[in-house]
Amino acid sequence: MARGATERSDSRYRCVGIGVGPANLSLASLLHGHTDVRNVFFESKAEFGWHEGQQIPGTSLQVSLFKDLVTLAQPTSPFSFLAYLHDQGKIYHFLNARFDAVPRQEFRNYMRWACERNPNIVFGEQVLSVDFDGEFVVATERRTVRADNVVLGIGTHPVLPEQASRDAATQFHAGEFTARSGGLGGKRVCVVGGGQSGAEAVLHLLGRSGSELPRRVSWVSRRTNYFPIDDSPFTNDFYMPCHSEYFSRLDRTAREDFNRDNVLSSDGISEHTLRDLYQRLYVLRFIEGAGDLFALFPNRTVRAVGGADADGWKLTLGHNDQPDELEEIDADVVVWATGYRTREADVLAPLAGRIEREGGEFRIDGNYAVRWDGPADRNIFVQNRARGQRGLADPNLSLNAYRSQRIVDRIRGVRSDGQLPSFIEWSAKPRLGLSWEG
Ligand SMILES: Cc1cc2nc3c(=O)[nH]c(=O)nc-3n(C[C@H](O)[C@H](O)[C@H](O)COP(=O)(O)OP(=O)(O)OC[C@H]3O[C@@H](n4cnc5c(N)ncnc54)[C@H](O)[C@@H]3O)c2cc1C
Repeated sequence: MARGATERSDSRYRCVGIGVGPANLSLASLLHGHTDVRNVFFESKAEFGWHEGQQIPGTSLQVSLFKDLVTLAQPTSPFSFLAYLHDQGKIYHFLNARFDAVPRQEFRNYMRWACERNPNIVFGEQVLSVDFDGEFVVATERRTVRADNVVLGIGTHPVLPEQASRDAATQFHAGEFTARSGGLGGKRVCVVGGGQSGAEAVLHLLGRSGSELPRRVSWVSRRTNYFPIDDSPFTNDFYMPCHSEYFSRLDRTAREDFNRDNVLSSDGISEHTLRDLYQRLYVLRFIEGAGDLFALFPNRTVRAVGGADADGWKLTLGHNDQPDELEEIDADVVVWATGYRTREADVLAPLAGRIEREGGEFRIDGNYAVRWDGPADRNIFVQNRARGQRGLADPNLSLNAYRSQRIVDRIRGVRSDGQLPSFIEWSAKPRLGLSWEG
């Protein structure tokens, strides 16, 4: 749309956010009250949701409660998790409950509360495209607005492997678990995927009782065992801004090696989930005498899925150490806990040819602004789309507030104070003159 005399000045913004998950909600929260940055955030869903299909009772956050929308960047913000507890009158109760980790449903409720307090967030309005004519022209289902800066926070979508039958009533992704895992009593269920989502699905299925209990739950994982997330102190230093910045300066091969070698620092299973699961297996086998209720198959790859929806499925597994030994599992229902992938940035199609890329990612600068051929004061920021350039912290909540603060600072032309660096010297320091005398 060309800029015309009839265009209303209230459709012009300093910042337009696309998508409202935890990433852009953090940004919207940090921008709240900055009257110099007129902003609006569009979310296609009718109301705030956070992986609703995996809001399984008993599940919890895999990071500290301090890694909320704002605290690590702005501890005095009125949008912190503690501010939420206090506002709702339950801060003492939360303290006394002594949760090992924040219940996932409570963290979702907190984020929903943050949305309700922010009039700049619009639900039920999908962004269709972003073009540029000196300003960004953002078209939604209902209107066109103009912006100096746009921030893409459109998240991820579930991944099904090629062996999965997409249309089968009896196969589904773990992202639909709460909606589709009812009515599995007496059935043979196979969960594929050895991360947190797979573990939660298995634990929930084996925790059912009476007519709700499946006949058998098989759990297949490519990993050699069901591995925990590494949540120890020095590993957590990978999730500090200084490490993310160090990481961003490495060459691409070193970055890829790092992400592969350290994947369990973000994608492993919570220790308490593993303990709950192991204890449940003990009770089933040794106390209730129902040991044939479960079967564990790590170190296997699903090679094929045959059979028909109505008669049940036959999964062919290849053992990773004994590739010639094929195994078969019969299952009435298959739950694919096979992860999520970055959502395609279709909305940026009009600008696609103007943006630099590295591998499958948009190339970004230190402030998460995409490198493109437009003017330096017109930015396309991206949230949660730079795992290859910023490391394993990018897709999770650890640096959410930090990343949003970098974006706020860049838009406002300021630089907030950072925190002290890690105890660890990540970079080589050749001029220290240290020598090895051991
Ligand atoms: C079950 C589960 C539990 C997790 N738990 C943790 C955890 O405990 N700790 C941790 O650090 N990480 C966790 N993660 C990882 C990460 O924190 C989440 O994936 C997080 O939701 C990512 O936030 P996001 O805002 O980037 O994306 P999303 O949450 O996916 O939000 C993106 C939003 O954009 C909207 N959208 C997309 N396209 C458009 C459009 N064109 N117009 C308007 N809106 C659009 C979508 O509807 C969606 O609401 C978890 C992931 C999963 C799947």
